[in-house]
Amino acid sequence: MTDATAPITQDLLTIPRNLPEGDRRNIVGLTRDQLRLALIEAGTPEKQAKMRVGQIWQWVYHWGVRDFAQMTNLAKDYRALLADKFVIQVPELVSKQVSMDGTRKYLVRIAGGHEVEVVYIPEESRGTLCISSQVGCTLTCSFCHTGTQKLVRNLTAGEIVGQVMLARDDLGEWPKPGAPKDETRLVSNVVLMGMGEPLYNFENVRDAMQVVMDGEGISLSRRRITLSTSGIVPEIARTAQEIGCLLAVSFHATTDEVRDRLVPVNKKWNIETLLAALRDYPRLSNSERITFEYVMLKGVNDSDEDAKRLVKLIRGIPAKINLIPFNEWPGAPYQRSDWDRIEAFADIIYKAGYASPIRTPRGEDIMAACGQLKSATERARKSRAEIAAEAGL
Ligand code: SAH
Ligand code: SF4
Repeated sequence: MTDATAPITQDLLTIPRNLPEGDRRNIVGLTRDQLRLALIEAGTPEKQAKMRVGQIWQWVYHWGVRDFAQMTNLAKDYRALLADKFVIQVPELVSKQVSMDGTRKYLVRIAGGHEVEVVYIPEESRGTLCISSQVGCTLTCSFCHTGTQKLVRNLTAGEIVGQVMLARDDLGEWPKPGAPKDETRLVSNVVLMGMGEPLYNFENVRDAMQVVMDGEGISLSRRRITLSTSGIVPEIARTAQEIGCLLAVSFHATTDEVRDRLVPVNKKWNIETLLAALRDYPRLSNSERITFEYVMLKGVNDSDEDAKRLVKLIRGIPAKINLIPFNEWPGAPYQRSDWDRIEAFADIIYKAGYASPIRTPRGEDIMAACGQLKSATERARKSRAEIAAEAGL
């Protein structure tokens, strides 16, 4: 029996699972292997299973079809069998806000009634979709709004892929049969920079990205996917080997003393340990540079000395440094660095030979900027004890 008064956030460490959709299984988010096994289990002859995976895959991920009845290259009775055993389900779109600058923020409901946010950022030559990997976050970075929210649960692979599909629905991006092939992609890049720490939900994030990268479906190249981590060192090499996407690291400080305060997981894996893991990344994943994200907090981490230390620390790592002007949220304990301070900081880095773009805050009027995502429906705040325990204090 469920207790009607219990807070919905009580299940602090829910294990990721395929949530029940009646007794029908959701196809979205299954890897090719998982789908093959599921089809066989549902009565597909083993010899045909691989071909059926290919056909269904194309309908779902290339054409964006959500109804088995439309899969016209499958026999009618096989379509009926599929409809009996499976669903093709993406999360539910609850609301959409469009910023003055064109940024779109989607509030998305997943199984259990929880909500996460997804942000679409159109730019001249690309469109970036910022997706979430968890409801809330176990970590407690002191400048991050999501960090003040409890972790409710990990997203399933289907819920992660589903965010990309839902954005394509909203943008009308699925190809139309018979229409000339359109090479411009509205969602051309995906960044795992929404709510949650992706490397604390590794398997689901990996499986979801496998689906997104698959050449016969959504087909985004691994170089157009960036995973941002606060520095979960044991999972970094695995990210290179099992996903191979680009990596961004929330670095944010140049001494352990300051990083301990800003990104408390630094107490577990400090700057030196983190840098050692990063040195191997590009080689392991055959990827390009690592992005060092650095949030500019007035009087905290924005001095010339910081800039010089930063350059020294990352020496030898193919890197670019992305300076993020702090995005304020109600009750935030920091202020954004002044603009000339940010420019002076960028200049030192640039002169040392690194690209140092300053990230233009997007969607500020709809609270869609980096680190501002927090679902209003999940009101529970972490207790002091939880914060201490999660930060390994
Ligand atoms: N959990 C992952 C990814 C999500 S956060 C991580 O921490 O990397 C995406 C980026 O936004 C991170 O670099 C994060 O440190 C930064 N960020 C968080 N809160 C912010 C804020 N209020 N202003 C600017 N950047 C912020
Ligand atoms: Fe979690 Fe990232 Fe926010 Fe830190 S910055 S609390 S890791 S979402």
